[in-house]
Amino acid sequence: MRFGMDFGGTNIKLAIFTGDGEMVTFDEIPTMKLIKNGNIIDGLVERVTKFTGGYSLDAGGLAVKGMVDTGKGTVEDDIGAGRLLAGKNVQKIFSDALKIPVAMDNDARSYAWGEYLFGAGKGSRVMVCMTLGTGIGCSLVHGGKPYEGTDPLSGLLGGHITIDRNGPECPCGSRGCLELYCSATALTEKIRTMHPELNSDDILPDFFKAVLEKGNPYTRLLREFQENLALGIVNVIHAYGPDTVVIGGGVMKSHEVILPDVIEIVHKRAWTFPRKSVKIAASKLGNKSAVLGAAFHYTLQ
Ligand SMILES: [Zn+2]
Repeated sequence: MRFGMDFGGTNIKLAIFTGDGEMVTFDEIPTMKLIKNGNIIDGLVERVTKFTGGYSLDAGGLAVKGMVDTGKGTVEDDIGAGRLLAGKNVQKIFSDALKIPVAMDNDARSYAWGEYLFGAGKGSRVMVCMTLGTGIGCSLVHGGKPYEGTDPLSGLLGGHITIDRNGPECPCGSRGCLELYCSATALTEKIRTMHPELNSDDILPDFFKAVLEKGNPYTRLLREFQENLALGIVNVIHAYGPDTVVIGGGVMKSHEVILPDVIEIVHKRAWTFPRKSVKIAASKLGNKSAVLGAAFHYTLQ
């Protein structure tokens, strides 16, 4: 059996899988709940040891946000919760505690790897996965493993592809980055500004419901979102030549409203693929993708 953890800023997901990737058990804990005196490692190890107790594990994997050095098994830095793990040999700590081989990788790469092995990217040769969340995670799977590049963040920054050179400033130092338009955060802000009548906590599903039920004026914002997302996808298609692009994130619960037009725009703009050969699909595994990808990290195969 395999153990997987997805360490995020809001929640930590824990899961155990059979060798075929079937989920045996799952738990989700608010990240902040495990912090004691500014330290999360002790609480985390305690929780994971308890969670995995009684299962015969062969290996485990950790998906962690931030600048993860996969070779060293450490978090180099993060602007968020990943910083709680910085400076510690996290991989070794968990390997020692669970007495099994443990791998560690960035959460966007783990998400892509999960989709590649078990989800919408299954069977693809070159796959790009973009997750629309707080920002936009982006990862390439090529040659049977996630692309790592030369730096812990290499290959993950597709959210910072510029789609408007005169666009707003981005914290990354550039302007008009894709994630300023198409992350869940950006879309939520736009909806709140343009449609103050939609004011529930669950605003994204409410917006897509309004699009379906009322059409105009909601379709204008939807179309803008679709065109921007399509631009980002066209750019990664031109950069990497994938046969599959997987789009993930909670927003994709409404993929039936979002994707058909996005696909049409991509095929119009990416004329280099006249045979419409690039499959653009919504994530199949949703928020289980990273934890699954971690548990079956390519170094553990
Ligand atoms: Zn940026």
